[in-house]
Amino acid sequence: AHHWEENMHKSILVAAIAVVGFNSAALAEGMRVGVSWASFQEERWKIDEAAMVAAIEANGNTYVSADAQSSAAKQLTDIEALMSQGVDVLIINAWDKDAIGPAIDAAANEGIPVIGYDRLIEDDRTFYLTFDNVGVGRIIAQSVLDVQPEGNYAIIKGDPGDPNAGFLLQGMMEVIGDSVNSGAITIVGEAFSDAWKPESAQRNMEQILTANNNNVDAVLSQNDGMAGGVVAALSAQGLVIPVGGQDGDLAAINRVARGLQTVSVWKDARALGAAAGQIASDLASGTAMAAIDGAGVFSNGEKGIPVNAILLDPTPLTRDNLNVAIDAGHISKAQACEGA
Ligand code: BGC
Repeated sequence: AHHWEENMHKSILVAAIAVVGFNSAALAEGMRVGVSWASFQEERWKIDEAAMVAAIEANGNTYVSADAQSSAAKQLTDIEALMSQGVDVLIINAWDKDAIGPAIDAAANEGIPVIGYDRLIEDDRTFYLTFDNVGVGRIIAQSVLDVQPEGNYAIIKGDPGDPNAGFLLQGMMEVIGDSVNSGAITIVGEAFSDAWKPESAQRNMEQILTANNNNVDAVLSQNDGMAGGVVAALSAQGLVIPVGGQDGDLAAINRVARGLQTVSVWKDARALGAAAGQIASDLASGTAMAAIDGAGVFSNGEKGIPVNAILLDPTPLTRDNLNVAIDAGHISKAQACEGA
């Protein structure tokens, strides 16, 4: 009886400490989810983050994070720092597909599961959660091809360290490949844009325009931020031609409404972030990667390594269906249609 009473007092004390929050994560058996962001350059990433935090906290777990600010080296030290904070699982939005390797080894050595977030980490010890990026490339190209089935095309690619740049190009070429082979379409310029920077996309576009005496009929841009740079370069020459992008950036949706951009492929970051928070919580509490709800196997990377994965479906936004993003609460009607 005495022991029982003593234990009861102890548990009351423990409960009290938990209530006032002292070391409450450990006492409440909450897990710590460490998130390493590549950068917050595009507005989508803050949307991803908010949804992720909400899902992590709904599972009684704690969110800790770091922003690599587009530096492969900083991302490695960020992940070391997160690990030294005792994280139980890592979500990594990798800045550079090749440089990230040592971080994955370090996590594996400590038995910490890793989710490759949005960008593939081609290592079968990671879980890959993303949208169908090849599909995004296909939709960008198809929407532009529908309105411009022939002529001179420019392709503005993202950062070469991001596997998504390759997947997007793959999808684009699947759609326009036949027209390129038949000669209906000529690719008059194709360039990577360092760090997905809008300025670097703008410079690429200026160079392509100059090299072709402005004879460019359509542009496939790999995201909306860069499409903004492309449209600036086109406007400076008085040109309005079909331009495709992705992300559902608010400014891009408005360009679509005003007829300055043909399509923005929207990947609802709220859905991806929420899924990541849930999967991280499941992995931290011992669920095997292959047993994650809805998981399949992805093996379309450079090396063909099979990775447990979930790929969500993207949504095309064109002038005809902007209500989809408005109804979903992603953008207000006023903001979408301003000046249109
Ligand atoms: C993402 C895009 C984003 C780009 C730049 C890609 O990996 O899939 O949504 O625009 O990175 O951050």
